[in-house]
Amino acid sequence: MSAVQTDSDFIIFNGVRFMAETAKILNPSKKVLIADKTAGCSLADDFGAEDVRILKEKYPGVPVMIYINSYADAKAECDVCCTSANAEKIAMAMPGNELIFVPDLFFAQNLENVLEGQKKILYPGKENSAKGAVCEVHEKFTLEDIIAIRESFGIGKNHPKRMMYVHWECKPEVLQEADYYGSTAQIRNDIAKRVEGGNLEKAFIASECELTSNLMEEFPSVEFATACSVRCNHMAKISLNKIQPILEAIDSGADLSKWEVVLSESTIQRASKPIQKMLSLSS
Ligand code: SF4
Repeated sequence: MSAVQTDSDFIIFNGVRFMAETAKILNPSKKVLIADKTAGCSLADDFGAEDVRILKEKYPGVPVMIYINSYADAKAECDVCCTSANAEKIAMAMPGNELIFVPDLFFAQNLENVLEGQKKILYPGKENSAKGAVCEVHEKFTLEDIIAIRESFGIGKNHPKRMMYVHWECKPEVLQEADYYGSTAQIRNDIAKRVEGGNLEKAFIASECELTSNLMEEFPSVEFATACSVRCNHMAKISLNKIQPILEAIDSGADLSKWEVVLSESTIQRASKPIQKMLSLSS
């Protein structure tokens, strides 16, 4: 969202490709540059516009909500977008008793469980032939892992000062074992609130390792359990040393096509609708 407010003609996006595409959709007149165009995301890479069309044919008239972790051509087929922080709110704000949610199969099942009795969540593979996707990082956590981590690090269930945090993209049985589940920002904010109130001494985060590393720096009073090997290879492709050549190319007026995110005008127009809808429903 900060990218929308900038006056600069260039946006250098320090994140994976679906994020840079989103910045381009929101800033069609600006040049959006990404340090490495091959920095993907298993959720976006394994799901396309055709999969949305299969679901729309199967469930005519049912609105489609797409996770922000998707490419522009898939977004262009959908009614509304969501992030992990606002999925519940946006789902409930959409009309009707049913909602198609794509592409994250685990997130969809978690939402289905949380919204049971309030909204029916339909998703790829659930009585249909559409193909969904999962986050290759969060899918690594199993229920057995979480139980073993609780035991080895002394993070007992319902302990007042020890917390097992789980991201929405984890498997349903892992989410159900959590003391708290949410988006990266929600997890960070819960930690901050607990630290301020003196209510957190130990925590484990079932998410990407770099998140725990950052939280360790931000909250040194908390003992974070970590034996981390769960890393996102896509995010790892974006590094500061790849930014320098972009800055030099801008300064010298060199060709920027190697880094530029290019989307057709019609894709931008169609993909901006679900994003704008999300922004209007979440404000
Ligand atoms: S951790 Fe990596 S694969 Fe998983 S959602 Fe994030 S970018 Fe995609």
